[in-house]
Amino acid sequence: MAGVIGGLPDAVLQFAYLIAGILFIQGLRDMTHPRTATRGNGISSLGMFVAVAVTVLWFEILSPLVLAAALLVGGGIGAWLAVRVETTEMPQLVGLFNGFGGGASALVAGAELVDLTASGGGLPVGVTVTAAIAGLIGSVTFWGSLVAAGKLHGLVGDSPVSTNAGHGIKVVTLLLALAGGGTLVVQPGLVGGGLAEIVPSYWVLVVAASVLGVFLVVPIGGADMPVVIALLNSYSGLAAATTGFVLDNTVLIVAGTLVGASGLILTVIMCESMNRSLVNVLFGGLGSDEESEDMADIYEGNISETSAEEVEMLLDVADRVVIVPGYGMAVAQAQHAVAELVELLEEDGVDVEFGIHPVAGRMPGHMNALLAEADVPYDKMRELEEVNPTFSQTDVVIVTGANDVVNPMANTDDSSPIAGMPVLNVGEARSVIVNKRSLSPGFSGIPNPLFAQDNTSMFFGDAKASMQELVNVYKESR
Ligand code: NDP
Repeated sequence: MAGVIGGLPDAVLQFAYLIAGILFIQGLRDMTHPRTATRGNGISSLGMFVAVAVTVLWFEILSPLVLAAALLVGGGIGAWLAVRVETTEMPQLVGLFNGFGGGASALVAGAELVDLTASGGGLPVGVTVTAAIAGLIGSVTFWGSLVAAGKLHGLVGDSPVSTNAGHGIKVVTLLLALAGGGTLVVQPGLVGGGLAEIVPSYWVLVVAASVLGVFLVVPIGGADMPVVIALLNSYSGLAAATTGFVLDNTVLIVAGTLVGASGLILTVIMCESMNRSLVNVLFGGLGSDEESEDMADIYEGNISETSAEEVEMLLDVADRVVIVPGYGMAVAQAQHAVAELVELLEEDGVDVEFGIHPVAGRMPGHMNALLAEADVPYDKMRELEEVNPTFSQTDVVIVTGANDVVNPMANTDDSSPIAGMPVLNVGEARSVIVNKRSLSPGFSGIPNPLFAQDNTSMFFGDAKASMQELVNVYKESR
């Protein structure tokens, strides 16, 4: 299959792949810290560019002109999406990217089977086994990711639905897919000829796995989609790595393995931060329609409202302030106003820190990335374990756009859907200001007794408008 450009030895290709692999690994390493994450992204992208460009040129898959046009179109769509998509919509974008990766792996593995049979070279068992795995995982990933992204974007219903018919379809499609894969491996003679003959095995496998992918994700509640997307991310890596074995392509194996492993690590981190097992996410149900208590009972007569002027008075006499951001801060894009408030407080000698919960927002690192964008220094961002012991010595906590991550019910109510989830114990501070638009629940759909606590005051309003108002009032009072 290889046509060597300029007669260069194969070692040059392998060396280029080695460079790409090193760039991937260094990029991933940099992405483990917010300070170096942007650089890591750039380094990994460079690695991918090297891998793609060298592969297509080396194997003469495309003419340089077509390659340039493809890179321009693909890069253009990527750049457009990167600029247009809000950070709060990032999980569904990642979901789509995973899906395309999985779909591409299934198609490439199939194309290699067609290519090998058409050239009469036979189908070695190593190729058929890996192609079957790539077809199965790739197809499940493609369709599962489309459903997951659709749920997160509100295009597909997000209630958890589990029916016997659904379970039946999953079993039948899994058996069909295994039968297709088994035939491909055991009787490759059946596929000797071309596209038409491959239909009974590989393409049956692909169609069955596609239906399986849809039915695996449809019953999972929309609230669990970010975890499902991280898991599908891992699947897309696995599919790519196995396709790498089909093609005997080192860089695809390396890249796929890195994606598979990092996706799995991310899935585990998310599950641990929510104190849920993966089995519970996939087959349990933290549904947005679940409410463990009647909100009216908790809030009735116990909510005290405050204003920017009153919050300013509290801040005026505070020595230590902790700000806890959440999903609402991201939606409102309030990070710049929050950063300005921090600057003012620090100028007046107040000790200010941020308490960042690992799953605040809609993806790990969401808050850190937003605050970094507003030039908040990294050493101000404290993790849950670091900040929790300090709340009892904190004068004022400002919770802005967060809800579940400060819900004490996680510690006190075993029947709550967030029971056992580590939370920020902001209620231990002298005064707690909660800034959100209403008493509506957060992601888990449950009420929050913190709002009704004696030392809590609700500062109702959009996070950006409220924080800006607070900044203005604070400035005027100086
Ligand atoms: P929540 O979803 O619990 O709460 C966000 C709150 O923001 C809502 O109650 C909403 O209240 C408020 N809000 C929305 N828009 C605005 C606005 N414009 N201005 C002010 N407030 C606003 O968010 P948290 O960050 O506290 O918790 C994250 C949740 O997401 C957790 O349950 C976590 O398990 C889950 N999750 C997170 C993942 C991650 O990796 N980060 C992954 C998977 C799940 P109101 O409408 O009244 O304004």
